[in-house]
Amino acid sequence: MAGVFLKDVHPSAGSDWLTGLPARGNCLSLLAAELEHGEHPDSHVAAIWLNIDRFRQINNSFGHIVGDSLLVEFARRLRRALPLKGELARVGGDEFVVILSGVSEPEANRIARSLQTALSQPLGIGTQRLRPSVSIGIALAGPEDDASAVLERSDRAMSEAKREGGGRIVQAVNQQHPVQVGKHLAREELGVEEMLHRALETGGLFLDYQPIIRVADGTAVAVEALMRCRVDDQVIPPGRFIPVAEKTGLISHLGDWSLVTAAEFIQHLNRQGLNLKVAVNVSRAQLLTPAFAKSLHGVLAYTGIAPEQMELEITESLFMDKADEVQKNLHAALEAGFPLALDDFGTGYSSLACLKDLPASKIKLDRAFVVDLPNDTRSICVARAVSRLAADLGITIVAEGVETAEQYECLCQAGVTAVQGFYLARPMGELELQKWLLA
Ligand code: C2E
Ligand code: MG
Ligand code: MG
Repeated sequence: MAGVFLKDVHPSAGSDWLTGLPARGNCLSLLAAELEHGEHPDSHVAAIWLNIDRFRQINNSFGHIVGDSLLVEFARRLRRALPLKGELARVGGDEFVVILSGVSEPEANRIARSLQTALSQPLGIGTQRLRPSVSIGIALAGPEDDASAVLERSDRAMSEAKREGGGRIVQAVNQQHPVQVGKHLAREELGVEEMLHRALETGGLFLDYQPIIRVADGTAVAVEALMRCRVDDQVIPPGRFIPVAEKTGLISHLGDWSLVTAAEFIQHLNRQGLNLKVAVNVSRAQLLTPAFAKSLHGVLAYTGIAPEQMELEITESLFMDKADEVQKNLHAALEAGFPLALDDFGTGYSSLACLKDLPASKIKLDRAFVVDLPNDTRSICVARAVSRLAADLGITIVAEGVETAEQYECLCQAGVTAVQGFYLARPMGELELQKWLLA
């Protein structure tokens, strides 16, 4: 990251010490002042909330000094990309706010996109290159609006962008008072938590399985277990209930349950002469629990399956996670004989060097590199390069989220070992999967 030195910025009173930008309090006053003056019928004041995706992982992987210099660089990029009429503030760790006045809705969106592009340019740290991803929330407002309510709306829109996978821009649609919005969200989380408890009590929790198909001969070599929660005929997707389960600590129960259920399914498949692997997703909260290794041993003792048949899918950033407990648990899993798969590869900030210390047996190329195929040459290059690397390391590479014949062909040519996606098979229940396998 050439040329990034902390001494380049000159903080003043009321500003953020690191970047010299106005801090949160000042940001609120700036916004309030703009709202007071904004009286044009066709234009708005816009608050654009920007948050760097997975910044915690950057700090964990490279240390806080590098993290701080990156923040200085982000501030500099934003300053450069900011239109003349814009104000910029740093409102939290990796959170920035841009305030624009007298802008139309399309103009605010266009500026948000250009800020995102500026922040997403590659950065060099030593020998590594990072491609930062940024989530953005936009709130439009007029003179009748309260500044803190507007900021809160942009923050919530940004959180929504994160929930959708990051790297996105979401515009706040509803004008509800922030307290109502907060209450609404809190109530929704409580509702999901309640549903999870009910699902645990009533057998509403189940796993769907999605085949992973080897390109060479078209056979299913593994299935990924994907958790589902059904209450009163309503199926809640994991994207909604897993974050709540992580917050409330319920994830350890759910995690143990999915390990046991998947192991029982392996027994069942083996009895039918089907010898494929079952992959189970493991979350950070599980890996932070000292009891995780015990759960793994418990599963082996209880079901008698061979650990090689149960693959543990760990997201890329977790692989690099410096937390002692996470590393201990990952090594314990490897020692017990469980293969590890590097999930959502390409979305985190990990270094391939981690494969040296913590050998994964599978890399799962994230859908982000599949979705624009076959037209995006950069995605093709990534798929090809990662396939070659995996081949040299002697490990499998699976492309995720393959939806079309064109994507499939392109990935086969790039050299991936296997594919997973709606094009070949959707996630399905146990019975349906068995029929599918035997067809
Ligand atoms: P993941 O591990 O990357 O799982 C793949 C996700 O991609 C699944 O979403 C799957 O349904 C979806 N998918 C597969 N093929 C396609 C395709 O062709 N197009 C598109 N658009 N999507 C496709 P799902 O089931 O909603 O799961 C989302 C995430 O929730 C998973 O991402 C995983 O991170 C998490 N998850 C699921 N089950 C569990 C679990 O048992 N434990 C934990 N900790 N996390 C889980
Ligand atoms: Mg997965
Ligand atoms: Mg994945």
